[in-house]
Amino acid sequence: MDAAFTIGRHRVYRLEEWQGGFSPPEALFAEYEEAAFDQQAGDFEPAFFRDGLIYGYLQSWLIDTGSERIIVDTGAGNDKDRPGIPIFGQLTTPFLDGLAAAGFGPGDIDKVFCTHLHIDHVGWNTEWRDGGWQPTFPKARYYFPRADEEAWNPAKALYATLAGAGVNANVFEDSVQPVIDAGLAELIDDGATIAPGMTAWNSPGHTPGHMVLEVESDGETALFTGDILHHPMQISRPDWNSVYCEDRIAAADTRRRILHRASAKGARIVPAHFGAPHSVFVERRDDGTFEPRYR
Ligand SMILES: [Zn+2]
Repeated sequence: MDAAFTIGRHRVYRLEEWQGGFSPPEALFAEYEEAAFDQQAGDFEPAFFRDGLIYGYLQSWLIDTGSERIIVDTGAGNDKDRPGIPIFGQLTTPFLDGLAAAGFGPGDIDKVFCTHLHIDHVGWNTEWRDGGWQPTFPKARYYFPRADEEAWNPAKALYATLAGAGVNANVFEDSVQPVIDAGLAELIDDGATIAPGMTAWNSPGHTPGHMVLEVESDGETALFTGDILHHPMQISRPDWNSVYCEDRIAAADTRRRILHRASAKGARIVPAHFGAPHSVFVERRDDGTFEPRYR
């Protein structure tokens, strides 16, 4: 498998787990306006919009620095019981074959970074082995945002207040706790260094502890933005949140901030769910709005 793109000296591979029509736009965007969406719908087809449905992906990103392999987000995982979101339950995808196609096995992964602890970002943290959920990447350090551990751990008080608690049922128990129990987890705060030139920044709103990973190498920058953007519609309308965003005001503020940073730095934005070409640059127009640039 060829690298999807490079960041300076780093090669980045896209590991696809799932693709499909996810939901009608009015069911994904909390601030949906039909006329505004329809105006751009033609541009979104077919990569981002098909047959009346938002078209999306579950994909992980593998950064190979030459000396370290780092996976960003780990999809939904196989064999997991997901009563809150059946479309991603009991999957049996060949996700690890994709890793092999890039030239690596689970034992070659040095680090795993989860932008947040939602169901579709932590799944391959573990797999079912020997009668239990075991870390899929046995030699890796797993980096989780501390504020998301506080939020999504059902044993803690905040969990009951989250709108997404039902959708995230079982997720902490089968995909996060086993990693902590194995001693492989590190809970991180704003500004944490994951590797040389790789910094995790707080980007709250979608979840309380959501983090963006900024990667710099040889003067090039990429921002691995998790669920700050689900769809390019949110580049022209940063005020549009997904219905899965916990704090809509904070999420929209974060989205604007990240778009500003990406345009100012000429950074590649690498979201978790974008259709082809799966990552995007943005340009800030004179009137302060943003425009996607695919290259
Ligand atoms: Zn997601």
